[in-house]
Amino acid sequence: MKIVIFWHRRDLRQHDNAGLAAALRSGLPVVPLFIYDREILDLLPSRKDARVTFIYDQVERLGGLTARAGGTFLAYYGRPTEVFAQLTQRYEVAAVYTNEDYEPYAAERDAAIAEVLRGRGTEFHAFKDQVIFAKDELLGKSGKPSKVFGAYSKAWLNALRDEQLEPHPSRELVRAENLTPLPDAPARPTLAEMGFERCEQFVPAAELPTATLVENYHNTRDQPGLVNSSTRRSVHLRFGTLSVRELMRQARELNPKLLGELIWRDYFMMLLWHFPFTASESYDPRLRQVPYRNNEDEFQAWCEGRTGYPLVDAGMRELNQTGYMPNRARIAAAGFLVKHLLIDWRWGDRYFADKLLDYDMANNVGNWQWMAGTGAVAAPWFRVYSPQNQLEAYDPQLVYVKKWVPEFGTTRYVKPMVDHKFARQRAIDTFRAAYRAAGE
Ligand SMILES: Cc1cc2nc3c(=O)[nH]c(=O)nc-3n(C[C@H](O)[C@H](O)[C@H](O)COP(=O)(O)OP(=O)(O)OC[C@H]3O[C@@H](n4cnc5c(N)ncnc54)[C@H](O)[C@@H]3O)c2cc1C
Repeated sequence: MKIVIFWHRRDLRQHDNAGLAAALRSGLPVVPLFIYDREILDLLPSRKDARVTFIYDQVERLGGLTARAGGTFLAYYGRPTEVFAQLTQRYEVAAVYTNEDYEPYAAERDAAIAEVLRGRGTEFHAFKDQVIFAKDELLGKSGKPSKVFGAYSKAWLNALRDEQLEPHPSRELVRAENLTPLPDAPARPTLAEMGFERCEQFVPAAELPTATLVENYHNTRDQPGLVNSSTRRSVHLRFGTLSVRELMRQARELNPKLLGELIWRDYFMMLLWHFPFTASESYDPRLRQVPYRNNEDEFQAWCEGRTGYPLVDAGMRELNQTGYMPNRARIAAAGFLVKHLLIDWRWGDRYFADKLLDYDMANNVGNWQWMAGTGAVAAPWFRVYSPQNQLEAYDPQLVYVKKWVPEFGTTRYVKPMVDHKFARQRAIDTFRAAYRAAGE
């Protein structure tokens, strides 16, 4: 019997799933699949990772839903090329359907797998699903992405049509006649079999935020002390447990500021696709040789939230304890690391990658390079935010700080590890020297 495989990656949902809907309309029985990719999992620094637990729970949830509808949901722990070699030997796989993933590793992996599969007579189809406009849809006149977010955002809004936000009827198509049970299928691996322990962290429900929250978003998003200051849907957008289209529809109706933030997400994904080297290198060649200080002890103090700057410390401690940090605190922490401590943005990017539940390479690299002034789109290199001013502006009642830095205001709280004025001048001098050394 010929089957079609639908390969879930960062789209762990049945509803409004472009690739899944296409697979279910292919006319052949669909077998959904998830691969716990060893190329990614083996690099994780800890065997207790809340993201792996989250993925595992979602895969099991999808497994249950598929079984109830009369099908089989496959999951393997291994390398995708090996898994597909096994699957194509065991079953007659007419096609593999999936959704596009723009991360450099994923792009290379998919290209390699598509070639191998096509060589064996299996089609490979990838669909746009995690963004509204795909990597090549909104390029500038030069055929490259615009380096000005304002221009991109304007083009994005002009190009938007209702159809682009329409949900795909995938869940409705998950029915016995479009699936097939595979009685000989191997059991899905458990966390323990993959060498992981359960590790749970708070994740809000995979539902749209309330209308009230979204309506007030522009007033509340920069107040980290508020319980519902922003949507907290980043984890769901990362793993696709929420469809970006549904959140976009809500934002378009209720709050242009939120829509604007979601456009940033599309933008950073496009930039990463076009400039994959920015995952590990500054986009601006003139800033590839900044003589960072990279002091290990200072980095450790930053990681642990012991800088003596309360907004930075509160953010880092929240991150360490919960896997989340509000955007305003991310800005303060990132700016402090790069400019005040003169530590390479890649150290911070890596630390966030290890800790954030919503870690997303495009958003993380894009924002880190923006803060460092090194990105395709970036804050001016001479901008050095004052962490104290930020605290006064965004947490004036110290609600956020007191929650995460309980010793703040007592003698037990550390003194600022560096003076702001001194650090600001040092950063400006250092970045200016880097530009001069590059011949500017
Ligand atoms: C240094 C730094 C690192 C970051 N790393 C990540 C990351 O790894 N993953 C990640 O999803 N976001 C990252 N962000 C962006 C932003 O901080 C988070 O998306 C946001 O805090 C998540 O909370 P929320 O869902 O309540 O966001 P909301 O404010 O409710 O926004 C809704 C959604 O819009 C998108 N969004 C919001 N702000 C941004 C932004 N600045 N850039 C791109 N998309 C945005 C996210 O998908 C977010 O979930 C980073 C920001 C900075 C400054």
